[in-house]
Amino acid sequence: FLAMASEKEAALAAVPNDNPTIFDKIIKKEIPSTVVYEDEKVLAFRDINPQAPTHILLIPKVKDGLTGLSKAEERHVEILGHLLYVAKVVAKQEGLDDGYRVVINEGPSGCQSVYHIHVHLLGGRQMNWPPG
Ligand code: 5GP
Repeated sequence: FLAMASEKEAALAAVPNDNPTIFDKIIKKEIPSTVVYEDEKVLAFRDINPQAPTHILLIPKVKDGLTGLSKAEERHVEILGHLLYVAKVVAKQEGLDDGYRVVINEGPSGCQSVYHIHVHLLGGRQMNWPPG
């Protein structure tokens, strides 16, 4: 059902709790994904439903309560900075030399559908503003 639903429908159906998500299975390689970058703290892989020619998700390997940005605490400052830095590294690796977009969807109104914080890296086409 979720794969058939629009992103908005998936986001409005998602339960914002700290339960394991599909991303835990991706981290454990229990379900396949196309990994483009990995280090001890962060995994970056291609979005299954890309919204641009390049659409990559960057996630912390350990969620540590960070279901979304609204749950950020002082202890998360390092991983949050690391996620953004890795977004830059992966953008360069992907050849997005003319620019790109970095997004964090937060909560139902922000269209978040997976409650394991993730940074979207989108590029390879001209972006528009304001976003939908
Ligand atoms: P959100 O809407 O929560 O900001 O973003 C969740 C993203 O995860 C969506 O863009 C969705 O396409 C992606 N996604 C959901 N399930 C999977 C999956 O099993 N594999 C991959 N690679 N991406 C997924």
